[in-house]
Amino acid sequence: MRYLIIGNGAAGVTAAETIRKHDKTGEIVVLSAERQRMYSRPGLAYVVMGEVPLHQIVARTQAWYDEQRITLRFARAHAIDTTAQQVQLADGQTLSYDRLLIATGARAVPAPYPNADLKGIVYLDTYAGTRELLKEARGGLFKRRGVVIGGGITALEMVEGFVAQGVETHYFVRRDRLWSRVFNETEANILQRKMEHDGVTVHYNTEVADVVGNWRGRIKGVKLKNGDFFNCDLLGVGIGVRPQLDVIAECGIATDRAILVDEQMRTSAPNVFAAGDCAQVYDRWSEKHLIDILWPSAVAEGEAAGLNMVGQTRHYRKGIPFNAALLFSLHITAIGQVNPTPQEGDGLEQQQSWSRGSSDVWFTFPRNYSSAWHHTGDNSLRLVLDGSKLVGALVVGEQKSADSLRYLIENEVDVTPLKPFLQTDRQTLQAEIIRFWREQCAA
Ligand SMILES: Cc1cc2nc3c(=O)[nH]c(=O)nc-3n(C[C@H](O)[C@H](O)[C@H](O)COP(=O)(O)OP(=O)(O)OC[C@H]3O[C@@H](n4cnc5c(N)ncnc54)[C@H](O)[C@@H]3O)c2cc1C
Repeated sequence: MRYLIIGNGAAGVTAAETIRKHDKTGEIVVLSAERQRMYSRPGLAYVVMGEVPLHQIVARTQAWYDEQRITLRFARAHAIDTTAQQVQLADGQTLSYDRLLIATGARAVPAPYPNADLKGIVYLDTYAGTRELLKEARGGLFKRRGVVIGGGITALEMVEGFVAQGVETHYFVRRDRLWSRVFNETEANILQRKMEHDGVTVHYNTEVADVVGNWRGRIKGVKLKNGDFFNCDLLGVGIGVRPQLDVIAECGIATDRAILVDEQMRTSAPNVFAAGDCAQVYDRWSEKHLIDILWPSAVAEGEAAGLNMVGQTRHYRKGIPFNAALLFSLHITAIGQVNPTPQEGDGLEQQQSWSRGSSDVWFTFPRNYSSAWHHTGDNSLRLVLDGSKLVGALVVGEQKSADSLRYLIENEVDVTPLKPFLQTDRQTLQAEIIRFWREQCAA
């Protein structure tokens, strides 16, 4: 059996590893457009924050590929012929397959300006891009002045990274609130205080209209929509991500916003599977096909794809999206549906706002929505309920109840006994959640 995997990220490598466990003799080839062995993409954030060196996020050695008898080829797949079961590489070579997995991930939406190729415009997205970001942030004789644009978690990580690299950091926010698709006003203010304490200047209702370069092809500033000019020598772009679908452009595989897959990760073409950021998978919560830009989802989808590729039947059950982030020393855990403002944005707005580490589910709204929310100082606890079930929680600051909430949400526990405590204070509610969770686990 010849297995071909396009993509050397969390989904592709997990699938390869899973296949090898169950098929000791099949040929496994993994293609990578990046000249890099598999690395932790979320780890890039810790690299820019100065917490780990870049080389330390490499997660697989060549010895590992050799031991697993997985052939890693640094080559870009260009097109797929689903009838002949062949993949054409960018260099013109052709590889045939019995089973194919598309795990091409998603890439940062490029800066939408004519001069987007100026030096000093940087992304937190790939190994090579992060090396470039670090070089640009640390370069120059004087302290760099940097602007970051984008409303989601990657932009916020880039802001923190710029600060860590000694850049005078300005964060431009299109709306009047930080991370407005996840935070309510108070939650946003907690983070804002932390950012300002660390020296970030946040500019609300501020949108870049164009970038301006100097004679050496370096960015020297940005023009704003209100006509002002703002000097800067670094622009961090974190305006969202887009599934990488170029390779399937001509082959007729069904897509919506990404590659549509059934619960066995099968695409519309025979013997072709898809997993990870490039796949749009069925979600039992919303009963729709949704996109997750999450590491654990990519791993779980890769495993399910691998099992189905070796001939087993494994149904992928989409878990509730979970992300725990640490931004400016503030712990933030988002579980399930957390959108505070149901009327905001659909379509393109939604597409642009997918950020690394986020999920469509965050922005979906429950049918019989009700919520409970308490905050004290820098701690906030917001619960989202759909009838008698918890469907989402956003925990900011103190994290004591985060694991319990994850359990209650994931297991669709009837939380009626918690209802009397929803209107109490944060500490009492938190204590009751933990007590109730313990009871559930003991039962
Ligand atoms: C800065 C940052 C922070 C993040 N933080 C979090 C977090 O806190 N929590 C979380 O859950 N997730 C986080 N993520 C998201 C997470 O990293 C992704 O969801 C996950 O890596 C997706 O894995 P994947 O295998 O689908 O795709 P990728 O990791 O993107 O891998 C895709 C692979 O496909 C290859 N490829 C693409 N096109 C081709 C082609 N045509 N031919 C050959 N190879 C090709 C690429 O080179 C790459 O090897 C973060 C990501 C970033 C960048």
